[in-house]
Amino acid sequence: MKYETEKLNEQTWLIAEYNETAGSYMYLLAGSQKALLIDTGFGTIALKKICEELVHLPVTVALTHGHADHIGGTGAFDEVWLAEEDKELYRLHSKESVRRIFTQDRLLPVKKTCHYYEEEMTFDLGGRRIRVVKTPGHSVGSVCFLDEKNRWMFTGDTCCRAHVLLQLEYAAAMEVYRDSLEKLIHIEPLYDITWPGHHSRPVDKQVIQDFFTAVNGILDGTMEGVSMKLPMGKARLLEYKEIGIEY
Ligand SMILES: [Zn+2]
Repeated sequence: MKYETEKLNEQTWLIAEYNETAGSYMYLLAGSQKALLIDTGFGTIALKKICEELVHLPVTVALTHGHADHIGGTGAFDEVWLAEEDKELYRLHSKESVRRIFTQDRLLPVKKTCHYYEEEMTFDLGGRRIRVVKTPGHSVGSVCFLDEKNRWMFTGDTCCRAHVLLQLEYAAAMEVYRDSLEKLIHIEPLYDITWPGHHSRPVDKQVIQDFFTAVNGILDGTMEGVSMKLPMGKARLLEYKEIGIEY
């Protein structure tokens, strides 16, 4: 796969790993003492070296969730964090057979064990605090990260400007996803924009409200998805404004 880096501000970079059919974003956040890498892509690029060229700081990895297109590069790093709820998913998606869905390139090994987020956990990077916000839905252990200083929310696959996939194995119930969106809306005064794991970026925080409206519509029966064949198999799809819910 190929990659590109993009400087978002003096202390933040986006790293995109992609081929013709798939792509994933990672974000490198630097403080004065440490750096945090949010997600690690597919595991086909020399991610640690790329980070070392951008920052001269120790790099800790924090994963938004356990899917193969986010955990691939963990093997190169000493400290990797994940939600314990995604432990099984991570183990399953570490397998070569699952990772091969995305690419035929050489795959770097995935780290076998991770640290698990504690409740209300914050990474202090030195003058920059990154808060872990648990948002189960797309997977049972999905999290978002609030960058308090820059007023940014990093959302992984929880609310890209695209479809959220809730039909997958290890996804949480629709009600649980709704509660996660409500949690993000509740702290909405703390951030201005969101940085997702895929598709267009950044994304206006209004997208979270759109997901919330659509999910509530499904749950109260006023909206209904159409059953169809989708890339991840047969599921129902509800399209609403610029987003969609696959369930
Ligand atoms: Zn995912």
